[in-house]
Amino acid sequence: MTTTPSPKRILVTGGAGFLGSHLCERLLAEGQQVVCLDNFSSGSPHNIAALLGHPAFSLLQQDVVDPIGLLQVDQIYNLACTASPQLYQRNPVQTLKTNVLGAMQVLDLALRCHARVLQASTSEVYGDPLVHPQPEGYLGNVNPIGPRACYDEGKRCAETLFADYHRQHGLSIKIVRIFNTYGPRMLPGDGRVISSFFAHAQQGTGMAIYGDGSQTRSFCYVSDMVDGLLRMMNSDVTITGPLNLGNPEEIDVLSLARKIAALAGSAAAPVFSPRQPDDPRQRKPDISLAWQQLGWAPQVSLDHGLSQTYAQLQRTAAPATDTGPDPGADALLRGHPGLPIFAESAASTARA
Ligand code: NAD
Repeated sequence: MTTTPSPKRILVTGGAGFLGSHLCERLLAEGQQVVCLDNFSSGSPHNIAALLGHPAFSLLQQDVVDPIGLLQVDQIYNLACTASPQLYQRNPVQTLKTNVLGAMQVLDLALRCHARVLQASTSEVYGDPLVHPQPEGYLGNVNPIGPRACYDEGKRCAETLFADYHRQHGLSIKIVRIFNTYGPRMLPGDGRVISSFFAHAQQGTGMAIYGDGSQTRSFCYVSDMVDGLLRMMNSDVTITGPLNLGNPEEIDVLSLARKIAALAGSAAAPVFSPRQPDDPRQRKPDISLAWQQLGWAPQVSLDHGLSQTYAQLQRTAAPATDTGPDPGADALLRGHPGLPIFAESAASTARA
């Protein structure tokens, strides 16, 4: 288990999302002070409901592209960006702004605070890869004008900004390329493959497969990913990345659909549709660098992780994104006391 020596004040952008909420939880468990910045575009107050009353947890409800008025932070994890293709393609310009302008806000804050900053990049920077598995040195095969470009090129540009702030200003940076990650609190039916298959299995509807289902993916359980993020953030200053984090256990999409149907005891059968534009045919991380530099490798098998995810889905009926404002979520936020560590100019944007 990774430990950090003294309490730090840590900003997690996108902290109310799937990965961010698990990260906030883990940081609090390790005794850190956490500020979660989120605009709830794909995240939910429900994800952080258990943290809102924690004395070391603060919430800043704002867009990451707007100036961030924090006075002091020691570390920043920049996770703000909707990860589901279905959701991020709805407003591609906003997705691009989040990735590029958001990265600049976060980097400027890090410069002001002399903080270390980690960028949650993605395996999507490799596009539809021509090299398999993908090592960090592979420069990718990305369509700059396709429907996924707002995300892929946005993340590539954010990596460029991180590298340039490091070269030009000596900022301490960490770039992590995250491969598909799953686990409890994924938004049901948000278009990501595992959450969609679970939603279809539960509803007993056909499991929608784009293409013939032979395309492969590699899935990392969320606790392994959070562990990797912490190790990277707290690694030696000379380790900057980019560094792949993911589980190299590879599975084709059709087998995954069958596995999830079996787990959920569902009779849902695969329903095939044409392959989506720029959908990668194969995806598997080369994680030798993560092992070499961080001693990190995933510990949770796909079977175990899927059963954990399914168990949580059975316990909770999480709100869907498309159902409009969620009154339960508003009530959760109303009780939150606001931020004690803010610059005057930004205090008005903090949720009271
Ligand atoms: P998510 O969509 O659940 O979480 C993203 C969070 O960012 C949400 O809470 C959302 O409300 C917030 N957000 C989005 N745009 C924002 C903006 N402009 N200002 C403020 N907040 C904003 O996604 P996730 O799976 O938790 O992913 C977290 C990060 O990890 C993302 O940057 C994503 O690109 C990256 N990543 C995730 C995966 C994965 O498989 N989960 C894979 C590769 C990369």
